[in-house]
Amino acid sequence: SSESNLIRATLFPGDGIGPEIAQSVKEVFKVAEVPIEWEEHYVGTEIDPRTQSFLTWESLESVRRNKVGLKGPMATPIGKGHRSLNLTLRKELNLYANVRPCYSLPGYKTRYDDVDLITIRENTEGEYSGLEHQVVRGVVESLKIITRQASLRVAEYAFHYAKAHGRQRVSAIHKANIMQKTDGLFLKCCREVAEKYPEITYEEVVIDNCCMMLVKNPALFDVLVMPNLYGDIISDLCAGLIGGLGLTPSCNIGEGGIALAEAVHGSAPDIAGKNMANPTALLLSAVTMLRHLELHDKAERIQAAILNTIAEGKYRTADLGGSSSTTDFTKAICDHL
Ligand code: NAD
Repeated sequence: SSESNLIRATLFPGDGIGPEIAQSVKEVFKVAEVPIEWEEHYVGTEIDPRTQSFLTWESLESVRRNKVGLKGPMATPIGKGHRSLNLTLRKELNLYANVRPCYSLPGYKTRYDDVDLITIRENTEGEYSGLEHQVVRGVVESLKIITRQASLRVAEYAFHYAKAHGRQRVSAIHKANIMQKTDGLFLKCCREVAEKYPEITYEEVVIDNCCMMLVKNPALFDVLVMPNLYGDIISDLCAGLIGGLGLTPSCNIGEGGIALAEAVHGSAPDIAGKNMANPTALLLSAVTMLRHLELHDKAERIQAAILNTIAEGKYRTADLGGSSSTTDFTKAICDHL
């Protein structure tokens, strides 16, 4: 039956604007007749003792079983003494690489017309290891962990990605002049992997210089690979180059072939529930998920419908200077399909 041909994928609508933009993805997928059956999971209101988090064990199992999913933003309450939902997902599912494509959208004018870069962020360690403590009153310490295993794994992914996507160059971003041991080890691992890919140009760029080069001329870069915190910051900088957080998708790659796509942005509490959010970032994330599933025709059609709607300029959300609601913009995309 046609039912059995459906691919099951986990969907976390998430918090804030999450449910509004997830609804948009569901509608677009329906109109495009994407053969996906969503398995929806919500963040709980109580801590699940099996995960030590508001994410239930069943939710994690759903991603492990389906190996593919889409997540909306999840709000992280500051200093509440439980594990961040995003960190729980990254750790439990071993989502070791976060891939963030960033390209100029045709028809949407920013200072740059020629951005086409991919940031690949190590996603499991660095300053995000969650190891902080008070040494004595007034003095705290945070451990930045860099391991050979995680560095090789993300470097391997970056070079593999570059080769598979016909990219020319991989830049490792670091601060090894100051963080000699940690970033030094990260670079050493990148160099080792680079030797196995002689057809790809490898370079090393210090993070502060990288920021300057990115805002001056983003076309200088192709694929960038970096430790966790730098990746967090640089990818938001890149989002700014092409029009903001409402536009940039990402995909988390985990061990055993898991792909969990998500927008780069957060839950946007300032505009939540107002039918104002731009669903493009989550829609393009869903497109990366389709590509992962090798549903290239569907991915191409949906991406074209989104980009054409934005280029046409008739329906745009407020972050892009328009006045369309999330639902009107979504409907315009569906009409393009
Ligand atoms: P944010 O990304 O939610 O918002 C930053 C600014 O960008 C806001 O002005 C917001 O209105 C705007 N914005 C973001 N997405 C938009 C969209 N799709 N359309 C239009 N405008 C958009 O960042 P924040 O305010 O620092 O964080 C809010 C919450 O989200 C926090 O709890 C944070 O921990 C969480 N967060 C989650 C993730 C994730 O789930 N991956 C990522 C970042 C932040």
